[in-house]
Amino acid sequence: MAAVTPASDRPDVDVIVIGGGVNGTGVARDAALRGLSVALFERNDIAFGASGNSSGMIHGGPRYLTYDPDVTQTSCEDSGHIQHIAPHLLFRIPFLVPIHPGRYPASVALTGYDSFFDLYDKYQALKRGKPHVRLSVDELRQLEPGLVADAVGGVTFDEWGIDGSRLCIGNVVDAMEHGAKVHVHTTVTDVLRRDDGSVRGVRWRDRMTRQTGSVTARVVVNATGAWAPITSALAGLPPNAARIRPGKGIHVYLDRRLTNYAIVATAIDGRQVFLLPWQNMSVLGTTDDDYYGDLDEVVANGDEVRYLTQAVARVFPAVRAARAIGTWGGVRPTLYAWGKNEDKLSREHEIVDHGQHGADGLYSMIGGKLASYRIFAEQMTDVLARRLGNTSPRRSHSSPLPGGDESIDPMSLVQPGGIEPMAATRLEYRHGSRALRVMERIAKNPREARVVCECEPVLEAEVRYVVEHELARSVDDVARRTRLGLGACGGMRCAARCGALVAQMKDRSPESGRRDALRFLAGAFQRRAPAVKSEQARQEALALAHLGAELGSGSDEESS
Ligand SMILES: Cc1cc2nc3c(=O)[nH]c(=O)nc-3n(C[C@H](O)[C@H](O)[C@H](O)COP(=O)(O)OP(=O)(O)OC[C@H]3O[C@@H](n4cnc5c(N)ncnc54)[C@H](O)[C@@H]3O)c2cc1C
Repeated sequence: MAAVTPASDRPDVDVIVIGGGVNGTGVARDAALRGLSVALFERNDIAFGASGNSSGMIHGGPRYLTYDPDVTQTSCEDSGHIQHIAPHLLFRIPFLVPIHPGRYPASVALTGYDSFFDLYDKYQALKRGKPHVRLSVDELRQLEPGLVADAVGGVTFDEWGIDGSRLCIGNVVDAMEHGAKVHVHTTVTDVLRRDDGSVRGVRWRDRMTRQTGSVTARVVVNATGAWAPITSALAGLPPNAARIRPGKGIHVYLDRRLTNYAIVATAIDGRQVFLLPWQNMSVLGTTDDDYYGDLDEVVANGDEVRYLTQAVARVFPAVRAARAIGTWGGVRPTLYAWGKNEDKLSREHEIVDHGQHGADGLYSMIGGKLASYRIFAEQMTDVLARRLGNTSPRRSHSSPLPGGDESIDPMSLVQPGGIEPMAATRLEYRHGSRALRVMERIAKNPREARVVCECEPVLEAEVRYVVEHELARSVDDVARRTRLGLGACGGMRCAARCGALVAQMKDRSPESGRRDALRFLAGAFQRRAPAVKSEQARQEALALAHLGAELGSGSDEESS
């Protein structure tokens, strides 16, 4: 904490938001839509934390019904709104719950599930979900022949998925288009307070350029998810002022789409996990374990990979035959409670007014879900607006996110000699109607139709677009926005090309582009190593060491 004397001059902005996850970008957008001036600081990249590493379910979460029905209600309600503002980003995920012989006779178990999902169906209308269906063994097998033979029947239920990183990018771009100033790779290092304890602004440091500075504001919002206690400590507050219980969750992804349904399985400890089709891949998720490690270095380990594979293989054996090609993981900023198992913790959200701790003007956003981020952000902005005397109407539920204003047919982007249908489909998914802006680049410069990442595929024009309009400053940033380098080759075939493009656009040297690519590959390797076969991991480690030796040991980025 740094104490400063009251300033007579006007603050630089109305609102400072610390953290570029879904909650921070959501508040920045909502506040900007209401005409407040906003500055947002993100220490890493937009969506670096839980928001870009979640399971991406914009759902009600049927399991919350048993202990957190308000969470189901809020999430389903907000899912409906998110579908309205970003229709291009959402995709339907039909779930199958196979029921296996157990303690109860099959008919009793099926009736139990049936009644439970009857209750869940009551929320489906809020999110345009379909009611559940009770399935006989034959119907279950007909829908998914890959399930093990001992099931006695099953039920379906309907959910929605999203690319969490794209959701955050949509919010932050909209915020910027409504006047917000956004600083990525910029850590808030201090929360400034006046002699009377009230909060006055923040001090920051750009981790790439090493520049430092300060910005003053009328209010400061701590939206740093699992980092929230660390951030509140920057204001000199005690550790329990913004208390959370951090829970690590990881996913494993496989090189092919094994099924068109998500499948629920039970893990060895009785927790529910799933197999999810995701574009051309399959995803296994997720774990939930108390986490005490470095929040900037969340990586899966072999035990977690085996735990998920074992659970899913028990009901869907083909997962063992597919090739695991990577993992991703994040830390849930769950509300604090002592004595409960991690998966029984509340997914509710909470706004902490640190006026009660003597830091008037500082608020922390704690807990929550991707699926209810917009409501949480709206509630936070309501508090800010009341305090700042802003009476503008709420618009975050009705104003479309960038690209969500009109639907376009991806096939209309496929021109003779132009881009491939697969590239067009992905481009439209990620950018909605703004895919047309990427296509305008290609019309002006047809060379930009070149495919940079073949696994996804990602075009040169899209790489250039996200650097120019979506704050990407490195290969890793481009990957978060486009999925470049996340396919089977782990970026080996595209990172260098992408690094060269980013370096050229940012006026950096070609060598800095190669280093950027190497950093991306090293990070990708850390996430792939627990999942790929050991022989492949060894080969990739050797290839990386070789590339690193060629470049020498210099560094052009601060790492703290
Ligand atoms: C494995 C997993 C699966 C999940 N699945 C789902 C799901 O399917 N559906 C769902 O609804 N929810 C899901 N969630 C929960 C959801 O992802 C989170 O609740 C939500 O993303 C939290 O967002 P946030 O903005 O609060 O935090 P984060 O996304 O973690 O963002 C916090 C940001 O603050 C930045 N930061 C930290 N310190 C500083 C500083 N000093 N200066 C500047 N910036 C700083 C960090 O770099 C980070 O980017 C899941 C979470 C996990 C981990």
